[in-house]
Amino acid sequence: MKTLLRGVVVKKVLMPLLAVMLLFSVLDTTHADRGRQYYEEAGHIIWEINTEAKVIALTFDDGPHRKYTPQILDLLKKHNAKATFFIVGAHAEKNPDIVLRMAEEGHELANHTYTHSRNRSVPYVMEEIKKTNEVLFSISGQSTTLFRPVEGIYTDELVEAVVKEGYKIVMWSWHLDTLDWKNPGVGRIVRFVLEGVSEGNVVLFHDGGGNRHQTVEALEKILPDLEEKGYTFVTISELMKIREENQNEQQVDKN
Ligand SMILES: [Zn+2]
Repeated sequence: MKTLLRGVVVKKVLMPLLAVMLLFSVLDTTHADRGRQYYEEAGHIIWEINTEAKVIALTFDDGPHRKYTPQILDLLKKHNAKATFFIVGAHAEKNPDIVLRMAEEGHELANHTYTHSRNRSVPYVMEEIKKTNEVLFSISGQSTTLFRPVEGIYTDELVEAVVKEGYKIVMWSWHLDTLDWKNPGVGRIVRFVLEGVSEGNVVLFHDGGGNRHQTVEALEKILPDLEEKGYTFVTISELMKIREENQNEQQVDKN
């Protein structure tokens, strides 16, 4: 009776439990994550910042695109907005004039791998980062320390390798992924940003990777609206500087 019971316990309780534990350990290696709080406090990853200053960081991934990126740059210029471009190295090589324009107009150049591959092997990604940085430097004379992984997916192992090379990972405010790459409609992108955005947020757009007509049109509405509400559009480095100043002030208050 006892062995039978033990058999049932093993089969009905322990096996499913083991299966769940195994599943979690697999998930853990693919999306390993010490957690947002850990990485935020360590300063290794930034999502957004806490601030009362009316600043927003607009970020654009996957470009430069021959057609849409210049249109976006025109709009940014018109509204005196600075943005951060997470550039795919191979696209930068084909559009050096656009990369140079970004740099000359005060935008921040940042790294989004060389081929936008989904290969997540750490040595592979590190090689792509290096290559893209070399391309950006050869075009603009600027090197970047900001990196955004493809699809925003990182592992502890990748963060460690990236940080060791002097980079920071830049994500975005979770509530401000516009999903513009899905072409959800100009109105939806506009509403999504205008209703969601607040001080210190990081907004995710795409200037490359397909037809970005909706992104351009949405920006035509978003930029003047936020400008009127008193927001300033800053780069990621400027945003990090504001956070640093806030932390220093808090330190002074404590002492
Ligand atoms: Zn991307």
